[in-house]
Amino acid sequence: MILQGLWSQEGSERAAAAAWPLMEALYPICRSITGDGVRRTLDLLEGMVPLQRTEVASGTAVFDWEVPPEWNIREAYIVGPDGRRVVDFRDHSLHVLNYSVPVDCTLSLEELQPHLHSLPDQPDWIPYRTSYYDLHWGFCLRHRDREALNPGNYRVVIDADLQPGHLTYAECLVPGQTGEEVIVYTHLCHPSLANDNLTGLAVAAALARELLNEKPRLSWRFVFGPGTIGSLSWLAMNEEHLARVRAGFTIGLLGDAGPLTYKRSRRGGRLPDRVAEYVLPRIAEDARLFDFEPYGYDERQFCSPGFDLPFGRLTRSRNGEYPEYHTSADNLAFIRPDRLAGSIAALARMFAIVDANRAFQNLSPKGEPRLGKRGLYGPMGGMSPAEFQYALLWVLSLSDGDHDLLAI
Ligand code: ZN
Repeated sequence: MILQGLWSQEGSERAAAAAWPLMEALYPICRSITGDGVRRTLDLLEGMVPLQRTEVASGTAVFDWEVPPEWNIREAYIVGPDGRRVVDFRDHSLHVLNYSVPVDCTLSLEELQPHLHSLPDQPDWIPYRTSYYDLHWGFCLRHRDREALNPGNYRVVIDADLQPGHLTYAECLVPGQTGEEVIVYTHLCHPSLANDNLTGLAVAAALARELLNEKPRLSWRFVFGPGTIGSLSWLAMNEEHLARVRAGFTIGLLGDAGPLTYKRSRRGGRLPDRVAEYVLPRIAEDARLFDFEPYGYDERQFCSPGFDLPFGRLTRSRNGEYPEYHTSADNLAFIRPDRLAGSIAALARMFAIVDANRAFQNLSPKGEPRLGKRGLYGPMGGMSPAEFQYALLWVLSLSDGDHDLLAI
């Protein structure tokens, strides 16, 4: 079975530690759903696993959506009445409203206020805000800093481009003995946030790297792309190949203190659901399993009724379930290395069963096969069969091509 080197605590801790420098390098980068932050992120991921990149042009229709103009930002700041920079994008990539249009103007504090975003309940945290499809500009800042702003004129500069370009995603394919595929999707569109989404990137890279040294039965395709528009773009580019998808997982939020949490596919009862139901309660007493809902991460695209793919999702906390979610407090200090390792171990076990599971055909199905003449039955008749013989009889009885190993 695949990925056994990551099943143990020791093996998964080693993999998590190996992926940590990647998260540290990725953390400061200002990512978004398009742009050079995504490409720099893929450059760094390529230090761990080989990637095949796809660039999808702005304006490309993807189902009910369209790939937006590409966004790139050089700098952004606000200069206060005393000439001091009160907010500077160089200090933190969260300081700018992600996908802000360019701006260079001077306005009063009252005029500036509607463009500011802060968290009165968490005055020391910078919120993460985006405006991908409405043309806005804005800044995100600590509420404590916002309250210290004095009346007067403020110079506002956002030096950014919003122009025709591309959306970028990348794939790491680990070829298997069959063309049947498992897709692992993780989003890479968040700027300086750690649990969401650096842990997904690190865990996917760690699993892919280990798998590249093995010979899986199925082909494993790890996809690193932006949330929503990225998975929609991938689906649009791969629509004719979806029949080969045996299972899929979206992964993310894998390093917080929350319990392992699996979200079932839309229909439920499908391969990744059955694997999660088998594995998770056996390795974590507090594991949670939830039914599908059409809200969350990219599983809502893969599981939309027009695709209805067997996709599940593994996280620890769910999106929005912890106060640090989508704020500057979701940083590397928030990540618990033991939890990250536990997530790697859980996925390694789940992936191994997905890869190994299949339905067998009993080649001697007419009547009970004679175990004795094959040396598989105890020498003495009249005794109840031992557990081993029982297991053989069950496996042979259920190996009708219909029941797979998980069912047996
Ligand atoms: Zn998020």
